[in-house]
Parts: sequence; C-alpha cells; structure tokens
Amino acid sequence: MERGTSRTVAEKLDAADPLAGFRDRFVITDPELIYLDGNSLGRLPAATPDHLREVVEGGWGGGLVRSWQNWIDWGSRLGARLADHVLGARAGEVVVCDSTSINLYKLAAAALDAAPRRSTVLIDAEDFPTNRYILQGLAAQRGLRLHQLTSDLDDGLQGEQLRSALDQDVALVVLSLVSYRSGALLDMAAVNELARAVGARVLWDLSHAAGAVPVELAATGAELAVGCTYKYLNGGPGSPAYLYVRRELQAQLRQPVWGWFGQREQFQMGAEYDPVPSIERFLVSTPPLLSLAAIDPALALVEEAGVERIRAKGLLLGRLVTDLADDWLGPLGFRSASPHLPERRGSHVSLYHPDAWRICQALATEAKVVCDYRVPDRLRIGPSPLYTRFTEVWDAMDRLREVATRRNYVSRPADLTRVT
Ligand SMILES: *Cc1c(COP(=O)(O)O)cnc(C)c1O
Repeated sequence: MERGTSRTVAEKLDAADPLAGFRDRFVITDPELIYLDGNSLGRLPAATPDHLREVVEGGWGGGLVRSWQNWIDWGSRLGARLADHVLGARAGEVVVCDSTSINLYKLAAAALDAAPRRSTVLIDAEDFPTNRYILQGLAAQRGLRLHQLTSDLDDGLQGEQLRSALDQDVALVVLSLVSYRSGALLDMAAVNELARAVGARVLWDLSHAAGAVPVELAATGAELAVGCTYKYLNGGPGSPAYLYVRRELQAQLRQPVWGWFGQREQFQMGAEYDPVPSIERFLVSTPPLLSLAAIDPALALVEEAGVERIRAKGLLLGRLVTDLADDWLGPLGFRSASPHLPERRGSHVSLYHPDAWRICQALATEAKVVCDYRVPDRLRIGPSPLYTRFTEVWDAMDRLREVATRRNYVSRPADLTRVT
C-alpha cells in the first residue's frame, strides 16, 4: 500500500476495492455521517427490513403457529452457515441461540463439570467484563481458583504469560480471540496447543473476530467457542449469539440449563431430561425468532463477500488509520493503543488520549464521526470492511485532527453517559 497522507491515497484504495459495491447493500440514511463503530453494532443490511416484514406478516401473521415447522431449526441452519463460511468449523458443530454471555456460562459450566479434579480457571484480566464476571461467578459457586492473567492493555496477552500460568490444575482457559479494547489478535492454534499440552480446555470468545478475521476452529483444534452476531456480522441489536463445540466432545459435555430444546424427541414431552447427542444439546428454549431471522440476510452478505476478502480490506483500512494517526496525531496527545502490526490486530484500532471521552463526544456532535470510547482513555476506531470506504477513514481522521487541534472538546462534560 502506498504510504502517504494525501487523500488521493484513500481515493485510489476505494477505486481498487473489490468490496466497494457492498456499501450499497446497507441502509445509509445520512451519507455525511462516518460510522466507525461497526465493531459494536453493525449497520442495517438493506435486505433486512423486507425480510423481517415477510417473517412478521407472512410467517407470524399468516402462518401463525404452523410456521414453527420451518422455524424450529433455524438456529441450526444459521449455525451451519456460520460454521462453513465464518468460523472454519465442521457441519454440526455450531448453533445459533441465546446471548454470548449465556452461551459462555453454559459452555464454561459444561467444561468445568467435565474436569472435576482440576480447580483453576485462567482468564485475561483485561478481557471483556461479562466474560470476567461470568467466570468469577462460576469460580465462586464451585470454590475454584480464578487466575486473572495480567495482559498488556495495548498489546494483548503474551504467550509467555499464558505458558507460565498453565499447569495440570487448569481446567479451563477463557480468552477473546480479538481484544475488545486494543484489538489485539491472539494466535488460536498456538494457544490451543499450549492448553492441550497440560490437558486444559480453551473457551474462545469470537465476538470481535467473527466476520472480520478468518477463524479456523476445526483446523486449530479448538474445542469450545462463543460469539455474537451483531458486530461485524450485522445481525442487529441483540441478535442471538452462536456457540461451537467440537464434534468429538459434544456427547461428553452436559450444559447446566436443562431446557426442552436440547431434549430428544422434544415433542414427546418425556418425563426425564435426555439430551440429544448433537450440538442441539446446548440449546435451551424457544429462540427469539424475529431477532434470529435478522441474521439471515446479514450473513448472506458476509458469505458473498467472503471473510478472506473482508480481512484483506480490513488490514488496509487499519493501516490507513495507523498511518494517519502516526503522521498527524502524535503532537496532539494521541498515541497508538493497539498492536503495531496490522496482522496482529482485528479490524479496529485504539488510540490513547487523556481526553478520549470528551473528544469522542465532540467528534460525534460536531464532526459527524461515530466511533466509541472505552475506559480508561481509549478511542476505538472500528471501520467495518463491508461498508466503510477508505475515504471515510481519511475524512474521519482529518476531522479528528481538527477537533483535537481546536480543543473546544474541553467544554464537554467529563461524566460518562449511560452507554459509551
Ligand atoms: C460484545 C461482546 C460480548 C457481548 O455479550 P452479550 O451477552 O451479547 O451482551 C461478549 N463478549 C465479548 C468479548 C464481546 O466483545
């Protein structure tokens, strides 16, 4: 990629972008607004409203309860597509259901139950809060030792730290493939190998990775994973999550919530819980059908574009962010808060600034750039390759430079809003 800070560099990248056409497949109501928060909530695919109207009016309104004949295994069908196109898993290893937090709880509990003689759980002290809280709860309930690894806030967890914490007492390691704050991308194969050597299981959270970076669950020997569908997969606010359990492990693991959707011959309404041997044994209950339905057209776009091409563009978008940040923003009090090499990051880049929160608010209200803030002092810039143009990134960085130079963000409230 040509190095330089002129806007022509970005224009050339747009002109050569094989995914440029995908932008029109999303609803963009305000072309002036630059949206760099697709890592938090992906944009609305243009096909989704009509699809949902059909499900609501035709499926619910017309079909009524009869539609469940077709709806009942929609989570499994979506899981099969995710396995094939996004997660590098085999058939029958992924299902869409519940939320990421709930799935994390279910799989962590199942893995802990299967390792009764081990009493340590490893997590990253900088991991996404829900992951830490859920494991804190499980450890407290079971009297296990929770070892929180101190990872580098900007560079992520280092292999050496994990290696030195792994021993025969570790039952479970919970890690995010891409860090929500720094964007640091771990080496899935290497981590799986380290854990396997001491007989520990790894439960991966793929929330910031799926649909942004290639994931190879089967090839890297991954055993357990969860993740959400509303970030780079554009499934919509609160769309159901997915879970993955390696085929060879499924029948051995039993999740803690014994619901009727995991039951053999579900509609026999049998007396005793007797779960199916397949991935559906990790299901609990009736899916939130309308939210589930919204994943369908969104996933079709990712399938059509292909994760390899999405990643290739994501690397270039990330490079553009860091090149411009290096050239423009250092003197204004910013520094990079992400791994330096694009290959070691997911699709977002974090920048440190002591006034990151107020700058984030000023960017949104004065400069029409939506990115987000993460405690303590990080601005997260999350271009989503399916719909973000290179020139948008250039313009956003230019507006950021201007906001930081003018310094009128200092008049903004320092108190955080309910949601950041
Ligand atoms: C976004 C995200 C979640 C989301 O959890 P919910 O249960 O959907 O609220 C979980 N883990 C990570 C790492 C995330 O980035």
